[in-house]
This record gives sequence, C-alpha cells and structure tokens, in this order.
Amino acid sequence: MSDNNIFTPQARKIWDQIPKGSRLKIQNTVWCSQCRKAVTIKIDSASIVAGDLLLQGTCAICQGKVARLVEKE
Ligand SMILES: [Zn+2]
Repeated sequence: MSDNNIFTPQARKIWDQIPKGSRLKIQNTVWCSQCRKAVTIKIDSASIVAGDLLLQGTCAICQGKVARLVEKE
C-alpha cells in the first residue's frame, strides 16, 4: 500500500504506533452500511479528528464509502 500521501503526518504517527496485527484487524472489520457486514476498507485518506484517527475509504466489496474511527486508548 503506497499510503504516504494518504496519511497526514500526525495520522501516520498514530497509525504506526498501533501493532500491525491490530491495524489489520481494524482495516478488515470496517462496517459497511450497504453490505451490512464488516468489510475490508481500502483507505483513501487518514487524518486526525478531535484527537482520534479517522480512516476514510471505500468498501472492498461494493466500493461504497466507508469510514472507521480509531479512538485513542
Ligand atoms: Zn460494501
């Protein structure tokens, strides 16, 4: 994944602090309201919103818009 221009520097920093296994789990369990199930997100952008990491992208199945907020621990 060539995601260096997808993540803002701050989002990249936070994302890199998450263990790889957890990152995969986050990416592979994003709720899609069209598929009505957990799907894999194709990340289009990642930024910090109110201190939390917001992943925005498309559903790997239906190509619909999905988003996942990763809250600070
Ligand atoms: Zn979908």
